[in-house]
Amino acid sequence: MPLSADRFRRLISAGQDQFLRRLAATDRQSAERLRIAYERNVSATRRLLTDLRREAAKTGMGTADLARLPLLQTLRDTFRDGLNRMTITLDREARRATANGAGAGREYAGASLRAVGVTANGFAQPSVETLRAMIPYVDSKAFQDYLARFGKNNADYLGNLILVNASRGISPLQTASQISRYVDNYPLHQARATVRTLQLWSARAGTMAIYRANSDIVTGWIWSADLGPNTCMSCVAMHGTFHGLDEILNDHWNGRCAPVPVTSTRADLGFSSGQEVMTGIDWFMGLSDEQQRDMMGPGMHDAWSAKLFGLTDIPKVTYDPIYGAMRGASPLKELVPSG
Ligand SMILES: [Zn+2]
Repeated sequence: MPLSADRFRRLISAGQDQFLRRLAATDRQSAERLRIAYERNVSATRRLLTDLRREAAKTGMGTADLARLPLLQTLRDTFRDGLNRMTITLDREARRATANGAGAGREYAGASLRAVGVTANGFAQPSVETLRAMIPYVDSKAFQDYLARFGKNNADYLGNLILVNASRGISPLQTASQISRYVDNYPLHQARATVRTLQLWSARAGTMAIYRANSDIVTGWIWSADLGPNTCMSCVAMHGTFHGLDEILNDHWNGRCAPVPVTSTRADLGFSSGQEVMTGIDWFMGLSDEQQRDMMGPGMHDAWSAKLFGLTDIPKVTYDPIYGAMRGASPLKELVPSG
């Protein structure tokens, strides 16, 4: 039975809701555990920052002089060691996120298949454990390398920041406060994004494993974005596009899109006639000029209005060491190379 555009829209938004609600709840709990581990492991670095700010305030001190202080080396080593201790929590949360994601992906696949009219007993549902064993991200060399370098990379960042600031003539006090802001926020922010992305990718991998286990029923899937003023332009352009079972929904970091199963042919869904499926591009074209400008930003909107590129040109595939091909929005300078 062909899905009407209306039913398709309802199906998409219901799936999104369920998929995202469950993931959001476990993501909040995980973010809180990461915060606690972070506070515990950076407290020694924060104490050294007080000393660094005191040094930076001394008259005659330049940013290049800060770089030579033994205190700075101690601070970097302490920061690196603290973050390395935190990777124990990060690895544990990553494994938990994979299992949560596999479970959420399994539920979402089941609910979506029932929603398109497949009866509950009419499809194969591998267990969460089976799905979990099929999801490779945490055990990959790329992810384990990322954990192994987590402390060093963040500590090196502080060293580079000081050298760059010295060469730009930025004051030592300003440099010290930039270091403080980095220590207060950045690695925690990064750790949370890592766990969130892992959970989302595991959920989609779990969903896809179920669709594939039912390839006699499921012929493919449709990219579904949570369309709204904050949706990135890549996901807007991808929303409503049809994909085969050999593809995974390769959304960018923190991306929240979901794959809606297709049990009919593409023609049944109106892909040939263009009648039935409301794509993200259709949705975007229905917005006011001002809304379109807000979403794209003025530079991109000007170039798009001048027909220098089309909406389907926006999604760009990049390579991520953990996930492989990953899709995001092309920057304007790549969409309009001469500009
Ligand atoms: Zn996006």
